[in-house]
This record gives sequence, structure tokens and C-alpha cells, in this order.
Amino acid sequence: MSRPVQARRLEGIDKNIWVEFVKLAATYSKVNLGQGFPDFPPPDFLTEAFTRALGGQNHMLHQYTRAFGHPPLVTVLAQFFKKLLGRDLDPMTNVMVTVGAYQALFCCFQALVDEGDEVIIIEPFFDCYEPMVRMAGGTPVFVPLRPNPPKDGKLMSSADWQLDPAELASKFSERTKAIVLNSPNNPLGKVFSRGELGLIAELCVKHDVLCISDEVYEWLVYDGKQHIRIASLQGMWDRTVTVGSAGKTFSVTGWKVGWVVGPDRLLQHLRTVHQNSVYHCATIAQEAVAQGFQRELRLYGKPESYFVQLPKELQQKRDWLVQSLDGVGMKPIIPEGTYFLVADISQFKSDVPDVPNSDEPYDYRFAKWMIKSKGLAAIPLSAFYSEAHKNNYTNFIRFCFAKVRYVAALRKKWKEIKLLKKLDKQRMRELAEQQAQTQEEQKEDRGDAAVIRWGDLGGKC
Ligand code: PMP
Repeated sequence: MSRPVQARRLEGIDKNIWVEFVKLAATYSKVNLGQGFPDFPPPDFLTEAFTRALGGQNHMLHQYTRAFGHPPLVTVLAQFFKKLLGRDLDPMTNVMVTVGAYQALFCCFQALVDEGDEVIIIEPFFDCYEPMVRMAGGTPVFVPLRPNPPKDGKLMSSADWQLDPAELASKFSERTKAIVLNSPNNPLGKVFSRGELGLIAELCVKHDVLCISDEVYEWLVYDGKQHIRIASLQGMWDRTVTVGSAGKTFSVTGWKVGWVVGPDRLLQHLRTVHQNSVYHCATIAQEAVAQGFQRELRLYGKPESYFVQLPKELQQKRDWLVQSLDGVGMKPIIPEGTYFLVADISQFKSDVPDVPNSDEPYDYRFAKWMIKSKGLAAIPLSAFYSEAHKNNYTNFIRFCFAKVRYVAALRKKWKEIKLLKKLDKQRMRELAEQQAQTQEEQKEDRGDAAVIRWGDLGGKC
């Protein structure tokens, strides 16, 4: 029994934040703003399409479909992305349907990354990138987005977190095989600007590097901002695989329908991984998503389009959460996209009890304290950083605001936290008053002494 059972490629990647926090949230939280999924129903047109597919005449929808994507879905995805990327796409070779964006990412890393390859990952990052690179035998190389707080005392925006161009350039070498880009970014909500994408594209072209572009939040962009697809930039189509998710696009994360769009020279290798692992994803879910896209193609850019309506609704939720957090003394970083919001919790250090002999970072302690004592779940931001950089980002937590059910309960929670802050303020005020009184008494003592001295001198005034 001394023979190791675990494959070496799994060493060091067995820990996962979600296991611990999902359990904590299930046990203690009344308001779960931790995990990233909506608590509101998907659009009717989509659930109706699913029901029609399930109970309709076409019983073949209960059987296997084409491995690389159900024909109606790859066809409409090719039409849709032709519009977005401005190029003709072959549904059979330029699109592949996967079991969620997760499996799309897995196919990318397995198909394109070799032993010894380096893959650049921009921090903070969706946590599965690192283990997926390692499982493929690659080495992740991290480069952080650096916060530049605005000088005018305004709230920070996710746009204030930026790459240092020289630092980014220094990470590219002949060992670099790929860079992972995630725009809009989970957890910050940053939407990379054309300038920032241009810089990444230039470096990819210069060093002949591939780009794995995770764009699952492509429709969740606020304040009139535009999501720019890096594959549409000069020289990038041939070296980019773009990953998408019906889970995020149509608020159906449980359906696990995702896709990749890209050149055949890359996708042919992804197909090899896909056909030798999962083969294909549920036919009925693919059929319903295909119908959803057909509708969206007809309504493209119109006010009735779900891709227009959803961000509008979410922007209101974002604004409400920004105001609430600001009101209780957390400093929200206003996200330009996604349904996540990161908030600065450094003001709360005195509220969170120290755990003796523990080197657990402050954001983990804060998130656990908030779940257990306030029933409110969020995720520590340092979970989205590499081991080497974690300790620099322990003053933040991530909320998901794609929630409606809990709004009333949440208001109550804020009141409790506000009350806590109020009590804290009151305590501070009392302390300050006490100190002032003591100082006053001391001054009076000193004053008497001075009068005496003044009198002694016989001075007149
Ligand atoms: N990429 C990012 C950035 C994500 O946030 C998620 C889900 N949280 C995924 C990929 C996985 O998407 P799916 O649910 O479609 O597998």
C-alpha cells in the first residue's frame, strides 16, 4: 500500500476556496453574496425553449448530437460572432460547444500548453486558471493589476486597477506560450480598454504568444462602456481563442453550456481534447441556447434584447450595493462590468477578533467573521491571487450582486453592521471626550500654577 495513488500533476492543487466557503455559506449565511450566480429566474423565452425541446416532437433531442456542438447552436454562434468580430466564421471549424466555459478553458490549456511552457496570468484571476495551467505541465507567470487610487477622494473604479506596461513586457520570454486575458474581469469587474488590449496584443504578436481570452461576462458592461474583443485587434484572430458561457449570458449557470470561437489551427487541437474527455454537452440545453441566440440575433441592439436589458438591471443592483457599502464604511471599487464588486474592508480591523497562532490572512478572517456573526457571505479577494502575491491584497472582499431575493434581508444586515459602526463611533467619541476632559483638568491644574506664577510676578494685564 506504499505506492502513491495521486498523479504527480495534482500535487499542490488540491485546495479550493469554494469547497470551504460554499460550506460555510450553507451553514451560516442568510444572505449569500459569495458565489457568482444569479438568484433570479432566466428569461421566459429561454426556459420555454427548453421545455419545448424536452416535450416536443423531436425525440432525437434526447440523443447524442454532434460532438463539437449541436448544429443549430454552432450555426447561430457563427452568425452572432460574425457580427461581433467582423469576419466570416465556419460553424464546423471556428466554433466548438463545451460543458460550460470551465471545460472550454480546460480544453485550451490541455491542447495548447506543454511541459515547460510559461503562461502569463493577470492578477486577480478566476481561480481555476492556475491549477489548469499546472495540470497541463505549464508554469504560470503572474502579473498584477496595480491599484492607483484617485487623488480627489472619489471612490475607486475597477478602471483604476492597471497593468504596468514595463512589468507586463518583462514577463514575456521565449518560454511564454500563452497569456490568459479575462475581460470583463472576475473578481474586479475591470473592462480592459482598447489601449490596454492593444498593448497585450502587441506583445503577443511580437513574441508569437497565444491568447486565451475568457469573455464570459461580455454582455455585463455598465455606464455605456464597450466590451472590446481582443480577437478583433490587428494580428490577433490567428492566435486567440475566445471563451463564452450561456450560464452568464442567459443567467443559466446550471445548464453548463459554453463555447470557444477561434481559428481552426487552434480549435482542431481543442477538439482532440474535447472528443477524448466529455465528447459533448447535453443536447436539449444546446437546443434551447441555440433558440435563445436566434432570438437575440433578431433583436440585436434593440431595447427588447436580453443582452440590452440584463446589464441595465444589473447596473441598478450594482449602484445600490455601492451606496450601501459606502454607507457602512466599506470602500467599494465600482466595477465597470461583471456582477462582482470588490470592497475595501480595512476600516473594520478592530471589529474582527484575532485568531491566536493563526497566519490566516485578514480578508479570510473578515469573510468568516461576517458569515458566522452577520450571516452575510462574501469571498476574500486574496483567493484570486498567487501564493507569492496574496499577502499584498488582504484588505478586500468580493461580493456578487446578481441577487434580488435577499435585498430586504440585506438591508437588515447593513443596519446591523451600521449599528456596529455607530457603536464603534460612539465608543470612540466617549474615549475622545474622556481624553479631552482629562486634558482639560490637567490644563486647569497647569493654569492654576500659571496664575499663581503670574500673580507672583505681580503682572497686570
Ligand atoms: N470564467 C470566469 C471568469 C468565470 O467567472 C466563470 C464562472 N464563475 C467561468 C469561466 C466558468 O463558467 P461556466 O459556468 O460557464 O463553466
